[in-house]
Amino acid sequence: MSKKLLVGNWKMNPQTSDDAKRIFASYKKISVKISKTVLIACPPFVYLPLVSLTKGQKKVLSGAQDMFFESEGAYTGEISPRMLKNLGASHVIIGHSERRNKMGETDEIVSKKTIAASVAGLIPIICVGEATHDNDGAYLEFLRNQIKASLSGLPIAAAKKIIIAYEPIWAIGAAEAMKPEDIRETALFIKKVFADIFGQEVALNLPVLYGGSVNWRNAADILSIGQVDGFLVGRESVNVPGFIELAKAMDQV
Ligand code: PEP
Repeated sequence: MSKKLLVGNWKMNPQTSDDAKRIFASYKKISVKISKTVLIACPPFVYLPLVSLTKGQKKVLSGAQDMFFESEGAYTGEISPRMLKNLGASHVIIGHSERRNKMGETDEIVSKKTIAASVAGLIPIICVGEATHDNDGAYLEFLRNQIKASLSGLPIAAAKKIIIAYEPIWAIGAAEAMKPEDIRETALFIKKVFADIFGQEVALNLPVLYGGSVNWRNAADILSIGQVDGFLVGRESVNVPGFIELAKAMDQV
């Protein structure tokens, strides 16, 4: 059985490197007590050197929250995929809804970043998700289009090595997560769309994560009923006690 993934998106937190070290120390501490879950710490770029001491060890990996699609040159403020790789990052979150909605990131940009990440040997964690959840299935149509456009031009070989994080925007930072039964249905739909693009075999091996108000209390149900391969968490990623309990709860499933 492949390991479950717990991806911590630290967002623009914390404000000091001492706090970043403290948070990461808790990831390392809990990682030795769990056996079925891999942790991936995704801090702000400036803290990546602090968390990439993990090179060579498999239980806590490091990832970035974004990157640029060009490989080098005159792009003020941008970070290239190879810079991340050279710092020891193994994963990169691409197309988080905050980047799509607040920074104007389009599906086209997401697809360019996904391809560039794959070329550099990073594993892209591509975020998709609808803003509102209707009962007549329009959100499924939205998801289908978003997935197709976000993965446009991705070669099959690269598609075999990506991760999809399903993050319904309305469930991010909310009081409650999406219902596990609904997560299951949508995760299956995502695999179906993936199969339409890349074939059944590739889709069978696609890891689908869920993100949106996950915590230690709801984790076990979402994993077992929702049938996802792990989580992408925001708030709990920098809440040390909550993160530790969440990692333990996941590992028991
Ligand atoms: C997120 O922002 O991707 C997220 C899942 O946040 P939270 O876990 O806080 O809902």
